[in-house]
Amino acid sequence: MTLDASTVVDRFRRVGALLEGHFRLTSGLHSAGYLQSALVLQHPREAEACGAALADRLRDFGARTVLSPALGGIVIGQEVGRALGIRAIFAERVDGALMLRRGFSLEPGEPVVVIEDVVTTGGSTRETIEVARAAGARVVGAGAIIDRGGGVQQIDVPFHALAKVTLPTYEPASCPLCLAGQPVVKPGSRA
Ligand SMILES: [Zn+2]
Repeated sequence: MTLDASTVVDRFRRVGALLEGHFRLTSGLHSAGYLQSALVLQHPREAEACGAALADRLRDFGARTVLSPALGGIVIGQEVGRALGIRAIFAERVDGALMLRRGFSLEPGEPVVVIEDVVTTGGSTRETIEVARAAGARVVGAGAIIDRGGGVQQIDVPFHALAKVTLPTYEPASCPLCLAGQPVVKPGSRA
């Protein structure tokens, strides 16, 4: 099964996962739009379809393990791992820093793909890549369901997203929504 970009975005729209308003993203930037991927991924068949499509784009990298940042990356990471027939582990924040816990480990030179749900600035994907490298693994690629178009060029491994959704982001000091006096909302999960 193949999923083209417009089908992916349609799925987000259909379940109300493409929100409009005034949001403070995890990166600190403000935006008029927010993608709540958990509303898509709560449906196992949707999650499985996204995971399979992403796995198709990443299969040639020959990864042996999927690594995702908690919480947002766990469900899609699991589905990519299922489609590739490899294990899926996650890194989580302790005092603000991402790390491997729960007995998860990576071997020296182990080929890893890093998977997230939505990439905005690419910051947490880059941080997750560093977790893998610090453990001695070799990061062979990265992927996400949606690329919000704000900074994936700073990811230094091959990167694939199922869809690109360009939603403008603003520095808080120059945010037109703030200037208009519209209250800002922090969504309930990582952007
Ligand atoms: Zn604002």
